Amino acid sequence: MQRQGLPVERTLIIAPHPDDDVIAAGGLMQHVLSSGGKLTVVYVTDGENNPWPQRALERRLIIRAEDRRRWGSMRRAEALAALAVLGAPDDASRFLGFPDHRIASLLFRGDRRLEHALATAIDDFDPTLVIMPSHYDLHPDHRAIASFSRRALGSSGLREVRTYLLHGSSVRARVQTVLQLSTSERERKERAILSHRSQLYLSRSRFLTYARRFETFCCEELDLPERRSRVRFFLASLRHVATVLSGPGDQPIRSPREPEAGETPALDPATRHA
Ligand SMILES: [Zn+2]
Repeated sequence: MQRQGLPVERTLIIAPHPDDDVIAAGGLMQHVLSSGGKLTVVYVTDGENNPWPQRALERRLIIRAEDRRRWGSMRRAEALAALAVLGAPDDASRFLGFPDHRIASLLFRGDRRLEHALATAIDDFDPTLVIMPSHYDLHPDHRAIASFSRRALGSSGLREVRTYLLHGSSVRARVQTVLQLSTSERERKERAILSHRSQLYLSRSRFLTYARRFETFCCEELDLPERRSRVRFFLASLRHVATVLSGPGDQPIRSPREPEAGETPALDPATRHA
């Protein structure tokens, strides 16, 4: 079972936070389901450490542990609502509950629990296609989960793997798949994004920019050295924070020029998705 050259029979998407799956691959998810393929989304964290939207929405300055738990529960519910919009069955989600914005510290401590949890999810589902974060992503959770995912996958090469990048710029030479979305697919992806109401309060226009005519996926990154340098993570985090602070919260990102059929797309712009 192939869609645009991808073996979508059993597609597993690794999402660091509850909205990453829909933003990066809401169109691909529709392709999988309309082709009769099976879909599993593994949410590594609940996105509970998300203080600025929570402060703004709940009108509170101090965010306590119980507030974060409540926020995480709400974000799980939003993820499930988005999956339902895309037509995914109830068993398409798997929440691992690792701590939001603490994944890089797990990596540096040598804590392998996330690697094992991802390996279990992969073994259980036996995917034909894995969609995972990129080592090039500036967000420390995304970068660290790229490392954990790669370890969990091993080096058997039996599965097709694509990476996605939501914070930073894609490397043109690594773009491997450009998925074109029909008008109805874009509209459905937009409705799925709108399910993440907690994220829209400060960033509605920016989030909706992702409901564009194409999705870009890059090749597997087995050839890259594993990026475990604390200095590199720190510098990438600084760049991520700089992009977050570089403009007003609700200003849409500059949309890349949309590619013609068969054309290599323009690179993704730096984004401020948190
Ligand atoms: Zn994320």
